[in-house]
Amino acid sequence: MKFVDEFRDQALAMGLAAAIAREADPARRYSIMEFCGGHTHAIFRYGVHDLMPENVGFVHGPGCPVCVLPIGRIDNALELAEKHGVILCSYGDMLRVPASKRRSLLKAKAEGADVRMVYSVDDALRIARDNPSREVVFFAIGFETTTPPTAVALRTAKAEGLKNFSVFCNHVLTPAALNHLLTAAGLDVDAFIGPSHVSSVIGSRPYEYFTETFHRPVVIAGFEPLDVMQAALMAIRQLNEGRAEVENQYIRVVTRDGNAKARAIVDEVFERRESFEWRGLGAVPDSALRIRDAYAAFDAEKRFAIVTRSAPDAKSCECAEILRGAKKPVDCKLFGKGCTPDSPVGSCMVSSEGACAAYWTYGRFR
Ligand code: SF4
Repeated sequence: MKFVDEFRDQALAMGLAAAIAREADPARRYSIMEFCGGHTHAIFRYGVHDLMPENVGFVHGPGCPVCVLPIGRIDNALELAEKHGVILCSYGDMLRVPASKRRSLLKAKAEGADVRMVYSVDDALRIARDNPSREVVFFAIGFETTTPPTAVALRTAKAEGLKNFSVFCNHVLTPAALNHLLTAAGLDVDAFIGPSHVSSVIGSRPYEYFTETFHRPVVIAGFEPLDVMQAALMAIRQLNEGRAEVENQYIRVVTRDGNAKARAIVDEVFERRESFEWRGLGAVPDSALRIRDAYAAFDAEKRFAIVTRSAPDAKSCECAEILRGAKKPVDCKLFGKGCTPDSPVGSCMVSSEGACAAYWTYGRFR
């Protein structure tokens, strides 16, 4: 398959591994954070980690939208489904994340709440059209990649005059999280592998602030193993040469300015929140979106007077530290014991982009 097979080529991978081993200075360490959970899974699924020299390590970042949503917001979704009796629609992973008292939307569904798994916001719109006598809420999560479809759905609902559809908006923003990691959270890494899908929307330009301000290279990379390996090599070269620049390995998709049309639709429908709580990062300024007043009739937070209260993570769960890049899944004493994908304690074991799920799925137990 074009753009897939050639980026999984074993001979090319061995060539890249040899180049990294040759160019990595044995007198220093290279700590590279991959922001995206998709990259984390590629690293372990294809054994990229094992092809790196001892002194090149990956630090896993908070780029998993299911993982970073705090418990308080999932409690809100439970409240919508149970107290307000809406048809609550969301993605499959989101239904399995434990909220307060280890309840989840899936458990609420088993107890009678009308919770439905959807593949896209369009499914939720269809459910609203098919059920005009019921309130239908789309539990929207995700980074800049999934925000444009939610914006289009809100425009569609307004144009159609749908009276029973609203969105519980939890869309979050990548640059603000990176900024927080490098300032308030005190993250200590040498370079970043930048998001691929997010960057296809926002472009590579927003990362220039980070290279200029914090002097850390950022290399935007695709999700295939050769993408990640080439990005690691590009980051190592920058560090060896004392450079800190934005480089784009994913030129087959990402441009400097991204997708202007998608961003314009998002700007029409959403505005920035002053602050938003992230699991692991706490309150992060300017890091999330809310629905503009012009679309207030479709804002579930306003329609149902939702108030979010902070709630602690489960006892002994290390998701917060993992999402800050301060610990690895195997540092958690519950990993593989009290917590597995079949019986997750924290969000990082649920999501198909979560670091704990990656370690478990691909058998990395050290
Ligand atoms: Fe949380 Fe489970 Fe990961 Fe431990 S293994 S950090 S309990 S999700």
